Amino acid sequence: MIGALAAVGAVGAAAAAGASARWNWWRPVVTGGMPTLMYHKIGDYPPGSNLAKLWVTDADFRRQLAWLKANGYESITFADWRDAEKGLKPLPAKPVLITFDDGYMNNYELAYPALREFGMKGCVFLVYEAMDAHNAWHDPAGEPWLKMLTWAQIDEMQRSGVIEFGSHTMKHRNLATLPLDQVRWELTESKKRLEDKLGREMVGFAYPYGSGAYKPDVRAAALEAGYRFDFSIKQGISRLPWDRKAEAVRRLLIRGDDTMLDFRLNLTRGRARL
Ligand SMILES: [Zn+2]
Repeated sequence: MIGALAAVGAVGAAAAAGASARWNWWRPVVTGGMPTLMYHKIGDYPPGSNLAKLWVTDADFRRQLAWLKANGYESITFADWRDAEKGLKPLPAKPVLITFDDGYMNNYELAYPALREFGMKGCVFLVYEAMDAHNAWHDPAGEPWLKMLTWAQIDEMQRSGVIEFGSHTMKHRNLATLPLDQVRWELTESKKRLEDKLGREMVGFAYPYGSGAYKPDVRAAALEAGYRFDFSIKQGISRLPWDRKAEAVRRLLIRGDDTMLDFRLNLTRGRARL
């Protein structure tokens, strides 16, 4: 009997050691920041996808929204954040930004109804030339071509007040490797076209692949183009008030194979995995 208990203890200790090696539970809780979640596709990943971790199932997404709600987080949009910076209205006590990159049709089919049911808001970064079409920047051998949002869906989501849109360039090229005049075109042309089409200021911008966010001339071009908030894919939680001069807003990549413990650690520690 004593031997059996000792064995259980040893198993428990081994499990704890395993958990500590993988998870950042020991990091201090981040306070005074605004977690910005980064999603791409909601749903079940298609056969042949090499990007399965960028697909979050509808059930997991809803569990994550439920957790945010239960823990007192209030989702905001870029415009809410802009208005707070202008002193027009305060941010909620625990703000969170829920962002989606690229503009897939599954954002309309699954993310939008879920957000609406939970009374929450999200922001979607659009690739202008891919809308009403497909994800042409992916090699179909590694990620099948997917339907992107239609302009009618974008219009409906914007009118609902649930979704605000931002820019993710014209073509989803890697800004770190493009000549600067083309970088400027990607930034300014997408902002102008989206503003003409949607009748709203494009306040937020996300760098495709996160590329260029840490290249000073590219980042300067993004801010010169008139975006108020630029978003990288660097893992972490940017503090409030955000120091615009220091770096692009950090985000938390939400992976398809994340557990709820990963999600909680991301939200509270700024990182789940080592
Ligand atoms: Zn992207």
